[in-house]
Amino acid sequence: MIISYKYPIFPNKITQWKLAENLDACRWLYNRILQDLNDAKEKGIKLKTYDTQNKIPSLKLENPKLNRVYSKVLQMVNYTLWSNIKGLAASKKNSRKIGHIRFKGYGWYNTLNYNQSGFKIDQDHGVLHLSKIGDMRIKIYRKIEGCIKAVIVKREGERWFAIVQANQEPQPLSETEEAVGLDVGLTSFVVDSVGNEIENPRCAKQSADKLARLQRRLARAVRGSNNYKSLKYKIAKLHKRINCQRDDFLHKLSRAYVNNFDIICVEDLDIKGLKEKGHNNGMHRSIHDASWSKFVFMLSYKAQSAGRKLIKVDPRNTTQRCSACGSIAEKDLSVRVHECPYCGFSCDRDYNASRNILITGMEQPVAPIEPKPLHHISVMQVLAMTWEAAPFRTR
Ligand SMILES: [Zn+2]
Repeated sequence: MIISYKYPIFPNKITQWKLAENLDACRWLYNRILQDLNDAKEKGIKLKTYDTQNKIPSLKLENPKLNRVYSKVLQMVNYTLWSNIKGLAASKKNSRKIGHIRFKGYGWYNTLNYNQSGFKIDQDHGVLHLSKIGDMRIKIYRKIEGCIKAVIVKREGERWFAIVQANQEPQPLSETEEAVGLDVGLTSFVVDSVGNEIENPRCAKQSADKLARLQRRLARAVRGSNNYKSLKYKIAKLHKRINCQRDDFLHKLSRAYVNNFDIICVEDLDIKGLKEKGHNNGMHRSIHDASWSKFVFMLSYKAQSAGRKLIKVDPRNTTQRCSACGSIAEKDLSVRVHECPYCGFSCDRDYNASRNILITGMEQPVAPIEPKPLHHISVMQVLAMTWEAAPFRTR
């Protein structure tokens, strides 16, 4: 299973210049091969991937700058163009309205793909070495596990990143014989079917307050002044810290669920989307939704590599149905408590939903249960979780 990590890299001025030159040489190659393909098509000649690849050495005579690019990177330019063409052919088949493959204008080619070879990463000292380019600092804040298959250097505006692709062997965990259903909370992040309620990471209130304070100061500062620049820098830095912390939270929480449960059931939000679930209140909604998607993605690959099962269930009626008797008890967004008019079962609305998600995922019949109070877990508790111990209920 291939896992991608994205890290910022910090090439110095000379290295940046070399990278930019490499990118432009690749852009030239991309356009040149595309031109060849178009010409061949007009003449009714059908070319294959290796035909254009075999042409690269002769193109080096035409543009000597190609000699300064690592050979495998050039091959990947050819490969990328062909996969774009195949992608286009596939969407043509699905009769979507599409154009044709475009030539890349200046500045529109932004990735160098070091596939299989031409790179070295020193994780302990944070150094990335690229053939034909040199060394640069790489900030590895999450250790790379597994065998590294490729390094893709990416330019995003003024910043540079390395996307590291590693192949991880599955490491099955021993069975726990427990299953759990997870519901996206309305105010909390997750409420699960064993009664844990996980605080929403946006509630890392300290950071949010600090950010709001800085933004107010920025609004008052004189545009372009040193104070303005310094505030902008501080805000960007804080944003980054908040994002890193949120990712750390999602990693630890998904790890805890995968370690403690054989089967994890979640709603399949591809079917309906979060918005239609009635989640549309509050300005942090989109952040919450993005975090939830990321969380489910982390659950899925962690579960796969641990030999666990992630089941996505149809989200219809998970909120409205009574998880004790199966009757439909209509409720709108403001109603926080599920109270069944048919069997009298009463509990937190998200807890009821998570039980329904579990029941549907496990294809179990509904059954009456003893209601229990939710076990609240704070963001800080999640961040402090270790591999062995999670401070939450597992049954
Ligand atoms: Zn009921």
